[in-house]
Amino acid sequence: CKAFCESGDFDEGEFVDDAMTQDELDDGFCLPCQAKPHSDMVLQIRTTSILAKTGPETFQAEVTKVGALSDTVFELELEVEDRERLNFLPGQYVNITVPGSEETRSYSFATGPQEDKIAFLIKNTPNGLMTNWLKNVAKVGDKLKFEGPMGSFFLREPLQPILLLAGGTGLAPVMSIMESLANDELLDVPVRLIYGANTNVDLVRLEEIAAYKDRIADFDFFTVLSQEDDHERKGFVTNHMDPSEHLADGEADAYLCGPPPMVEAVRTYFDGHDTPPLNFYYEKFNANQQPGAKTGEEVAEKAEKTAAKVGV
Ligand SMILES: Cc1cc2nc3c(=O)[nH]c(=O)nc-3n(C[C@H](O)[C@H](O)[C@H](O)COP(=O)(O)OP(=O)(O)OC[C@H]3O[C@@H](n4cnc5c(N)ncnc54)[C@H](O)[C@@H]3O)c2cc1C
Repeated sequence: CKAFCESGDFDEGEFVDDAMTQDELDDGFCLPCQAKPHSDMVLQIRTTSILAKTGPETFQAEVTKVGALSDTVFELELEVEDRERLNFLPGQYVNITVPGSEETRSYSFATGPQEDKIAFLIKNTPNGLMTNWLKNVAKVGDKLKFEGPMGSFFLREPLQPILLLAGGTGLAPVMSIMESLANDELLDVPVRLIYGANTNVDLVRLEEIAAYKDRIADFDFFTVLSQEDDHERKGFVTNHMDPSEHLADGEADAYLCGPPPMVEAVRTYFDGHDTPPLNFYYEKFNANQQPGAKTGEEVAEKAEKTAAKVGV
């Protein structure tokens, strides 16, 4: 429970070196389970989604919508059994078991925590296991199961100007975050979104994003395309970031989600920046993060071998 004490006086109580060292105490840390406050205190506490009471559970769900939003992005909408049991924070993800296999793939909620149905934005990955299911098999009424919610990438209390950076289907958790911000009656900080993708085909949900201009008092966004010559803003999201508009001159909370190379590029950019964000949270859409996960081709190969063995 070690926490950093920003202000206030306290008696540190008793503690062992394993829990906190004398040096850490001298540096301003305390153990809230032992310390006795002498005044009001402000503590920096490292929380996780587990502490936020959103630990993972298994859920059954039925497909209520499935299809391609564009040549490169699928949408999957689900009605969850015992929806009231599913509490998640905007930005978190679940592991969906791909129907017809025992493999799981991770997907971030693209809907806000308050919405009845949940939805996902899924990239069309040629020969991918989930992709093949979405493209060739999935239909309304299909059943599937998922485990979640998971992840420490989620919207924190919006106290500073917010910069949202989405790369490709990294838009999904950002949509969930924007939906929560739109429902936050106390929100009084500016929200900016830079949505990057390769080509025009990758851009989805633009009307829904634009509609947030009517629902979030101070919201604006633009798109950046890396491979489209005639787009208004060509290049990467970092080429079009304005220190005052987007980084609030070092006061912003930045949330970034996208493919690993994009996340690394933005991290490097912030590292060398004069006014990087005050807080920076990110999620990488790594492929097959779960240990032992098999890709679409491996599962197909195994199915063929099994079929050959039983003489199909
Ligand atoms: C926390 C987290 C959240 C995520 N959220 C999202 C999200 O919201 N939206 C989203 O689109 N993605 C998200 N992802 C990525 C997602 O989990 C999948 O990795 C992605 O959708 C690909 O899954 P797939 O089953 O279609 O492809 P896979 O079956 O995993 O295949 C991946 C690639 O490997 C190739 N391949 C297949 N077989 C072989 C082989 N034998 N040898 C070499 N290559 C092979 C395939 O052609 C394909 O290009 C997230 C990832 C993480 C970790």
